Amino acid sequence: MLTNVQSLKIQLMEEGIHIPEGVREAVSGPVTLADYASTSGITMMLGEDVWVNAPIVDFNSNFVKDPPHRLVHQGNFFFVESGGKRHEAKLLPVPSYHDKHTTSTGELYIWHAITHADRVRISPIGGCAMACQFCDIPYVAKYRKKSVEALVESIRTALNDPGLPARHVLISGGTPKPEDYGWQNAMYETVVNTFPHVKVDVMMVPMPGLLDPEHLKSVGVYGLSINIEIFNVALARRIMMSKWKASRKTYFDFIEKTVKVFGGDGRVRSLILVGIEPVEDTLQGVEALAQLGCDPVLSPFRPDPATPMRNHRPPSMETLIRVYEKSVEIVERYGVKLGPRCIPCQHNTLTFPDGSSAYCYS
Ligand code: SF4
Repeated sequence: MLTNVQSLKIQLMEEGIHIPEGVREAVSGPVTLADYASTSGITMMLGEDVWVNAPIVDFNSNFVKDPPHRLVHQGNFFFVESGGKRHEAKLLPVPSYHDKHTTSTGELYIWHAITHADRVRISPIGGCAMACQFCDIPYVAKYRKKSVEALVESIRTALNDPGLPARHVLISGGTPKPEDYGWQNAMYETVVNTFPHVKVDVMMVPMPGLLDPEHLKSVGVYGLSINIEIFNVALARRIMMSKWKASRKTYFDFIEKTVKVFGGDGRVRSLILVGIEPVEDTLQGVEALAQLGCDPVLSPFRPDPATPMRNHRPPSMETLIRVYEKSVEIVERYGVKLGPRCIPCQHNTLTFPDGSSAYCYS
């Protein structure tokens, strides 16, 4: 049974939030950096521990139409007004470095790193060697390898940011071309060696020859996110052909091996989109991951205007609640959790802390 604040998070993910002009003026700096399909909105903490990234019309005019929820500013506080009730909201600022440049290349820091809640995500590859129809990366950026020096400088800046200091690191971004696999692995090592006291996770496609779980663990990578995205084979083939070519067996064999290497305490996660395929397929995917000791991460599909799927609708509240509740039952059977276990990092996922020590702040 969801609490009122948990239900509100789900409604916000489906319908978005309205920010009146007067309230925008109360926010210092931009309300969002809108850097990715699922982080296009404003990030808030509702209640004690419910984190949400709520889409806004600025970046999701394709489906945010006259939302029945609005942000209110009163005194020093923000609230979400919805259904005649007010819920206190802690609005997260964008990082102070958002308009500053690296000294190494002179490019904006945000071309390399973006902090969301307490995690800085770096994207070493701009663009992507693949093209999934739900993801904006291949449609908004050309393929390029970024300066490792600038990436490291950006992480350091994010960790020391006075407004929104990052606590841990995620290395994701586009998938490299095969000729850049060596470069990508050297970059992983450089980041981990430069910040030995910071947890560094890697999110990547398990293309043959790209990732070696044993090596990544031995150099100090904390965890891996290997995202299956879509479980329905026919839909996966149509929507994410390049990933589908890697084959489901490749993914699941890799995830099984990675859980053996990294352990099953949430260090290995796999994101699955909710709202593209039939619910039963998503739940089968959740079960297939949980069986392997991997934490499934439910990611409500947010159609991005830059992608071929811009005219799709986000999943309804009913769908999200059904998938969430069934998934909780499934993961309990297999002794895993819905990821991510870092509470602030749940802002763009269908996850809530359950009061256990498994969910925590980094
Ligand atoms: S492989 Fe990842 S980064 Fe590349 S298009 Fe697909 S989802 Fe986006």
